[in-house]
Amino acid sequence: MASTSASVAGVEVSLDHWIGGKRVSSSDRFDNASPVDGSDLGAVAAGGKREADMAVEAAREAFPAWAALGAEGRLPVLRKFAEGLLARGKDIAAVETLDNGSLLTGNMHRMVPRAAQNISFFAEWALGLQDHAIDHAEVVNNVRYDPAGVAALITPWNAPMMLTTWKVGPALAAGNTIVIKPPEWAPLTCSLLADIAHEAGLPAGVLNVVQGIGEDAGDALVNNPGLARISFTGSTDTAKIIGQAAARSITGMSSELGGKSPFIVCADADLDAAAQTVAGQYINAGQVCLAGTRILVEASIEAAFLEKVRAAAARMTVGDPREAATRVGPLIHPEHFARVSGFVERAKAAGAEVLWGGARSDVGALYFQPTMFAGVRAQDEIAQKEVFGPVLTWQTFTDDGEAIAIANGTEYGLAGTLFCGNEERAMRIASAVVAGTLWVNCFFVRDLAAPFGGSRTSGVGREGGTHSFDFYCDIKNIAVRKGSFASKGN
Ligand code: NAD
Repeated sequence: MASTSASVAGVEVSLDHWIGGKRVSSSDRFDNASPVDGSDLGAVAAGGKREADMAVEAAREAFPAWAALGAEGRLPVLRKFAEGLLARGKDIAAVETLDNGSLLTGNMHRMVPRAAQNISFFAEWALGLQDHAIDHAEVVNNVRYDPAGVAALITPWNAPMMLTTWKVGPALAAGNTIVIKPPEWAPLTCSLLADIAHEAGLPAGVLNVVQGIGEDAGDALVNNPGLARISFTGSTDTAKIIGQAAARSITGMSSELGGKSPFIVCADADLDAAAQTVAGQYINAGQVCLAGTRILVEASIEAAFLEKVRAAAARMTVGDPREAATRVGPLIHPEHFARVSGFVERAKAAGAEVLWGGARSDVGALYFQPTMFAGVRAQDEIAQKEVFGPVLTWQTFTDDGEAIAIANGTEYGLAGTLFCGNEERAMRIASAVVAGTLWVNCFFVRDLAAPFGGSRTSGVGREGGTHSFDFYCDIKNIAVRKGSFASKGN
């Protein structure tokens, strides 16, 4: 079957799978439309069991040689891969923006460099992995980080290139081979990723991409018995389904899931910086897993702080994400728009007060106004469930105990943000909030060596630095009796 491609933002993108170093097509296709303007981005190959099995087989065949290279042997090609991502940065950013509606400037200046760093950072980090020995009275425990095998990498649509490379980097650096299942609402940059990996010289079968719908291609992939790892980023509900497949075959699974993170503002905080950062939660139309969507404000500053946030939110221009002035682009898909509007309408019906927004923006079909709800009770749906849109709630607290109780009062534990002027108080609150990452007087920044993941239903496991290799490797202890060798070498 002839392979198919489309010109997207002037960039030629294959709409087919990438398996065993070649493009592979499928007669079943699914439509992909741009959330920016509704334009048709082409019919993408819809894989199923056949394609998932082919890809896992190709990855299994490629595994021994890739694993045998060792971290040093893999480094040059992974460096070239990272350089290739930077060299194609403009193309990647433009395609990602049309495909998922994220901001072009953010994609160009943050997402692309971060994607390249995701590859080069872990390739370098892997060099030091085998240096770890634990001394004991009788033995030396030599800790080995061995490649695990084939890893399935499944990612969501809100930042496909960044989130996929976050898995691709350590998985490949560890010596694994991989099968990527891109998100069906934004499948295109993962296709570019395959081209760039190939051009960098990654051997056939080391990186495979199977396009398709989650319940078909994704389900077939995670049920393939040839997998050694499943790394999943997406919703908590999907993780529960994939987790059952992983449990049946005792396959290691890491999950980075949804959130409903608190954003706590203390009276002595830098209120201008805090207000600016609250408004920043509307970026990418709030389709950011880490967004602090529950604004918890110390009651004594409520009125003054609300005016600052209102002014900052008014500057969050809704518009075409390709324009530099835009801060809030479209929601990804009509189904997602209906989901977000559903939350908003039910909150209104339940008596929550709309401080601003609350409806479709006149920019276009999928654009929603930045919205703030007050008059919200802790147990209300709008304060409990992840909306994944530009919708925040406003609550107040009178003491730290109350702030912490509200912050911890959902099923999630992904992240949190705190603005506070007193170090001791900040560390006390930050330590008590259940979250994988807690930002104090900042937001979104972290080092790739730092642990990342979620608590409670926001995820299982941590990635970042050595934590990534703890997941992607089979860790072995070679315990050698001291003084037990008669000779050394051949
Ligand atoms: P989703 O769970 O619907 O889909 C994620 C991926 O899983 C997609 O590629 C999809 O095709 C695939 N999938 C769906 N059903 C599957 C199945 N049965 N078997 C195998 N694969 C399947 O999530 P989404 O709507 O794409 O993304 C939004 C969610 O992702 C939000 O909850 C958000 O918070 C979360 N997210 C989390 C992080 C994080 O790092 N914690 C980052 C970004 C997004």
